[in-house]
Amino acid sequence: MITKRQQREGREKAARLMREAGVVFQEQELEKLEVADFGLSRLETEGAQIFSLFDTKRLAARVITLFPYQTEPEHWHEPEGTGKEETFRVIAGTLLLYVDGEDTLSRGKIPEESRAYYTCRHELVLGPGDTVTLEPGKKHWFQAGEEPVVFYSMSTTASDARDPFTDPHIVRVTQITE
Ligand code: ZN
Repeated sequence: MITKRQQREGREKAARLMREAGVVFQEQELEKLEVADFGLSRLETEGAQIFSLFDTKRLAARVITLFPYQTEPEHWHEPEGTGKEETFRVIAGTLLLYVDGEDTLSRGKIPEESRAYYTCRHELVLGPGDTVTLEPGKKHWFQAGEEPVVFYSMSTTASDARDPFTDPHIVRVTQITE
């Protein structure tokens, strides 16, 4: 759960960072910029600012902004059907991306409160212009480094509301209160 104020501030900060990174958008589109806390009510450590460029029946394009060490919790995209293939491409800042594999975690910080729900420890460090594609079904989580990060998430059909997360406490639809 987040407050309207947190939502407003999150949108403003994300909009400023996107603009500085050269992302083009219309002012009124900011109303659909999602400030997500994943139902955990600790937006600063586990949360994301998600701006959808478009969602069609086949494709989805997002610009995701994370503030320093803000983390999108570990999840995957079910491989049934064609599955969601997801490509990350960094626009500004550094993205720390974690997938299964040898434990190379050194720059990232696993959120203390939910340490048990972060099982991927193979660290990929992506800077501006770096691109990584994840096959459907591959578990992942990501985090900004010391500085905020702005990056694209391009994918086949998105099904955010149905994507499984490792942490059973996660509720994907953010509740907003006064
Ligand atoms: Zn994903």
